[in-house]
Amino acid sequence: MKLIEGKTIADIVYAECAREFEALKADGHTPGLAVVLVGDDPASRAYVGSKERKCQELGMHSVKIEKPATISQDELHAVIEELNNDDAIHGILVQLPLPDGLDEDEVILRIDPAKDVDGLHPVNIGKLAMEDPTGFAPCTPSGCQRMLVESGIETSGRNVVIVGRSLLVGKSLALLMMGKGEGANATVTVAHSRTKDLAAVTREADILVAAIGIPKFIGPDHVKEGAVVIDVGINRIDDPTAKKGSRLVGDVDFEAVAEKCEAITPVPGGVGRMTIAMLMANTIRACRLRQSRDS
Ligand code: NDP
Repeated sequence: MKLIEGKTIADIVYAECAREFEALKADGHTPGLAVVLVGDDPASRAYVGSKERKCQELGMHSVKIEKPATISQDELHAVIEELNNDDAIHGILVQLPLPDGLDEDEVILRIDPAKDVDGLHPVNIGKLAMEDPTGFAPCTPSGCQRMLVESGIETSGRNVVIVGRSLLVGKSLALLMMGKGEGANATVTVAHSRTKDLAAVTREADILVAAIGIPKFIGPDHVKEGAVVIDVGINRIDDPTAKKGSRLVGDVDFEAVAEKCEAITPVPGGVGRMTIAMLMANTIRACRLRQSRDS
């Protein structure tokens, strides 16, 4: 069994980012990312902190905008508008989920698609479906695809089963993997909570992706011998033996499944590492695309 480690592959992406960053700097441009955090959800705050740190490591311009959960929809739209008009900002990310009472779709619609480095604006989802390379694909699914490519795992003609159909992960990954580019050309099945006999469906997978949000949901019965398993899930479970009293696990029962797999991603240290790397790559590309448009 091969362990597909997020850090190793994220480092390849960061090395590319650093090279592209230097080239942009030489042309007089500094990529800038703005992250908008609404409310005080601890997990969201931790994710925003990691994104900020990574921007700083790469030397990027980084802005964090914090707003209370009581912010109105209109006030939040005004924040986005200001960032849309700020030339120092090339990428805007609104940390999701937003607190109750705020309409996420309406907020995402306000982001300039050219700055939507999270890839969730309908224009970018449309470009993803059309395989238009000027768009931005959502970071987690593009990170999954990159992990497969960098690990030398063939996807062309293989059966990929994705459990989960969110736009953020499952549905977008399905679009990527059924595409015609590198790490694609797969025969894709998307399963979800209404799928009948899920284990029979997932056992058909040469590559199985779990994006469900239920700790250790995928067990050995779901996995074919020799399959590749990509675990997108990040779930915090109680663990009295852990220092913090809890720990992170994926949607896959790693210990029970790993021995059946040709390759598998761990949690933590797997897909999660890739999400931030792809966000940085998208922001740097947004800067390059703007520069090309302006020149
Ligand atoms: P969502 O809750 O939006 O989607 C979960 C999907 O799983 C839905 O399509 C749902 O089906 C399906 N599902 C739920 N229960 C079952 C079941 N019993 N059998 C089959 N399918 C089921 O979650 P996300 O897509 O946003 O996230 C999924 C996981 O990935 C979470 O653990 C999340 O924390 C993690 N994640 C990790 C990221 C990373 O960077 N590594 C980034 C984003 C998410 P239905 O549509 O029918 O309800």
